[in-house]
Amino acid sequence: MAERGLETLAHGPMKPVGLVDPTTGRTPYAVVQLRQEDHAATAYNLVGFQTRMTYPAQGVVFRMIPGLETAEIMRFGSVHRNTFVDSPKMLTPELELRALPGVYLAGQVTGVEGYVESAACGFACALMLAQRLRGEAVTPPPPTTALGGLLGHLQTPRDDFQPSNITWAHVAPWELPPGTKKRPAKRDKYELMAARALEHFDAWLPGVTAGLEAVTVVARECLAETVSAAACASC
Ligand SMILES: Cc1cc2nc3c(=O)[nH]c(=O)nc-3n(C[C@H](O)[C@H](O)[C@H](O)COP(=O)(O)OP(=O)(O)OC[C@H]3O[C@@H](n4cnc5c(N)ncnc54)[C@H](O)[C@@H]3O)c2cc1C
Repeated sequence: MAERGLETLAHGPMKPVGLVDPTTGRTPYAVVQLRQEDHAATAYNLVGFQTRMTYPAQGVVFRMIPGLETAEIMRFGSVHRNTFVDSPKMLTPELELRALPGVYLAGQVTGVEGYVESAACGFACALMLAQRLRGEAVTPPPPTTALGGLLGHLQTPRDDFQPSNITWAHVAPWELPPGTKKRPAKRDKYELMAARALEHFDAWLPGVTAGLEAVTVVARECLAETVSAAACASC
């Protein structure tokens, strides 16, 4: 990201949206988020600081950040690489290995990326499997929902299949209602798409969770999280 331009990082992981410096009342140019790593609060990591910089360079550059001048660096940054399968080729729409029926994959190994996405993927996999075990026809989540879009990403053949977070690009595009000519503004469009997702999700869920009432509550929360993740990723 840094190679794309001087300003890129300030608009990416270091975007200071909603943060005001209480000592000056000003919004900072960029911020660094420290995430506590251990219960005793003796170690923190820098969120979004995957880097190919050499260790000596990291030592110099990171200590230039105000507040980190004397930080003791326990582990330097590196670039992580996900291990994932070529899902469009290797998995069925129900996330079952084509080559090994009866074995299902869920989470990051399928090519979704992120906490919420990985949990949502496992959730969808379990629901579809439950349907199958009940002897019912499997009804995958609609492509108009974030959950359906996420699974759609895993079924879209590509020469170079890569992991992805949930983004609006995975959700079925918004279609103008018949007879309407004016296209909605981008933000309005996403609100319409989110409302449509909730409506379609609510229509889909009872069929897959019949007899699993507790699941319905979790699913609704999971969807709301995933929708906000999509909104966040695309803003
Ligand atoms: C440095 C870093 C920062 C990240 N930051 C964010 C973030 O801020 N927000 C976000 O949404 N996502 C983030 N991610 C991505 C997120 O961590 C993953 O997408 C998510 O954790 C994947 O969940 P998962 O359950 O599919 O896999 P994992 O969390 O990887 O869980 C897989 C589990 O399986 C275990 N396992 C592996 N092999 C075996 C075996 N043979 N037998 C038994 N157990 C095994 C592993 O030990 C592990 O506990 C980050 C990832 C990294 C590496």
